[in-house]
Amino acid sequence: MKSWISRPVPHLPGNMPALRLFDTAQGSVVTLGAAGEQSMYVCGITPYDATHMGHAASYVAFDLLNRAWRDGGQQVAYVQNVTDVDDPLLERATATGVDWRELAASQIELFQTDMEALNVLAPDRYVGAVESVPLIVPAIERLLHRGLAYRVPGTAGEPDGDVYYDVEAASKHAAGATDAWTLGALSGLSDAEMLGLFAERGGDPGRVGKHQALDPLLWRVARAGEPSWPGGELGEGRPGWHIECTVIAHEYLPAPFTVQGGGSDLVFPHHEMSAGHAHSLSGVPLAQHFAHAGMVGLDGEKMSKSKGNLVLVSKLRAAGEEPAAIRLAILAHHYRSDWSWTGAGFAAAKDRLRTWRAAAAAAPEGSGAGLLSRLRAELSNDLNAPGAVAAVDDWATSALAAGSPGSPAEGALVSDAINALLGVEL
Ligand code: ZN
Repeated sequence: MKSWISRPVPHLPGNMPALRLFDTAQGSVVTLGAAGEQSMYVCGITPYDATHMGHAASYVAFDLLNRAWRDGGQQVAYVQNVTDVDDPLLERATATGVDWRELAASQIELFQTDMEALNVLAPDRYVGAVESVPLIVPAIERLLHRGLAYRVPGTAGEPDGDVYYDVEAASKHAAGATDAWTLGALSGLSDAEMLGLFAERGGDPGRVGKHQALDPLLWRVARAGEPSWPGGELGEGRPGWHIECTVIAHEYLPAPFTVQGGGSDLVFPHHEMSAGHAHSLSGVPLAQHFAHAGMVGLDGEKMSKSKGNLVLVSKLRAAGEEPAAIRLAILAHHYRSDWSWTGAGFAAAKDRLRTWRAAAAAAPEGSGAGLLSRLRAELSNDLNAPGAVAAVDDWATSALAAGSPGSPAEGALVSDAINALLGVEL
């Protein structure tokens, strides 16, 4: 599927030092390898609704990682999926009387326009679930052949043949490996916690005929009124969400790739189960590291469609707000923290952008190199954007206080540094 267009990234003198990043699975900050090639998979949207601030903050967080790697002279292979067929999309399409394909296409277009506006670098491959069905089917067939998946007989109005992943068999299967997969290893959650989140986040713990409540769906056989695709031995149907990401990552990235990213609501079950699928299919972990961005609320409340309090990037843009200010409002918060979008926070970001622009026009000779190295130090420390923002604030305060006529070359260096590393265009 077509991705969006990245804006050019200015080249800066010198290099970002080795990156340290919080790894959810290890529960601590780790130093990432500095080999010349890095690879990242960030889970994409299910395109049934416009990009809200939580999505935007998550993609901006991993954009900082992408930019930091590039500044460190690394090659980055970046893949993002789009779950262009899934229950929430089909439900929304039915509820609004829109064809599900049209709904998906329009929301993908809106998402990509938002990402472009926010200066998020495009993935090298933007891959849909639908176009990946021919890759996903053989992977599920392999899991069935290995006894790591099973068919559930039809009951209570459900047809025969939905295929589920056998979590217990998969754990045993991996037990001989040096890096065996165990359910809960990534999330660190108890069985009770996993069960609660599984039900809350699209799982079906009560489905009759499953071996275990936490076994996730791999293949949903065709139902009347639902789209379906040829599934080989599986029969017509459509794939589950976790296997979609696993197979796309296996197809387009090394195994294991460097960082699996997403919002913290993806830790369980999505990333936990994808990691299991990957072990079962390849015998090696899906990713070396797992990184997660915090959740964004509105004025202290959880942001949700049902509460009607979604802050949409596209609405702010339509109201004439500048995307660079939206991005700067996001960067005032550490990517791992949960935070709230507020009018005051956004006003502060707009003020800050004006101040930075004024300071860049008055940049004192020789002041840029110090700022650049402070930006790099902050960002290499677990993508500490608030620290980087504070560094620019400090620099801007002194630059404006100096009252010098300003050096255009120094102003260009500062603008380039802020653009390349923070993705904010002055
Ligand atoms: Zn995913």
